[in-house]
Amino acid sequence: MSFTLPTLNYNLDALEPHIDARTMEIHHGKHHQAYVTNLNNAIAGTDAENASIEDICKNISKYPMAVRNNGGGHYNHSMFWSILSPNGGGQPKGTLGEAINKTFGNFEDFKTKFNAAATTRFGSGWAWLIKNANGDLEICSTANQDNPLMDVAEVKGFPIIGLDVWEHAYYLHYQNRRPDYINAWWNVVNWDEAEKRFGM
Ligand code: MN
Repeated sequence: MSFTLPTLNYNLDALEPHIDARTMEIHHGKHHQAYVTNLNNAIAGTDAENASIEDICKNISKYPMAVRNNGGGHYNHSMFWSILSPNGGGQPKGTLGEAINKTFGNFEDFKTKFNAAATTRFGSGWAWLIKNANGDLEICSTANQDNPLMDVAEVKGFPIIGLDVWEHAYYLHYQNRRPDYINAWWNVVNWDEAEKRFGM
């Protein structure tokens, strides 16, 4: 079995003006597709062909770098599209909202900490809100296409939301203004989906 590019639940222009259609088209259709193609090529004829992408990430130290880069790329982007919505933004309700307030004080303080992780990630990578092994929320960031599921991650846990801060995610519209992209992104975060992930 090979991995496939997931279809988006919204149109390419649905996240405008926060994320523009051209960026979405290239990011999903070209960048994510390349991760899928290269992942399939890297695992062809190996046992990994029968593994889930989550299990591959959890055992990533046993795989070649091509699987780490492209498997991470496939997991991360699949998660990313799913936690975006044209009807997103605002604040999380329910158990996730409560957990965020309990851990970080309030939503604004949480956002400030998450933004700092996303802004200060040097070069390409991701910022994450994760649920760790104790069930507690934590903010962290990873380089390249690594993620907190990976056994090589400094901070491990299950991703609730993640923000792609590779230049390919924002450069066409925001050029070097990564902080503007980060601020705009909050307007399209799908908190209902994040709440579901928090319950997993
Ligand atoms: Mn990306």
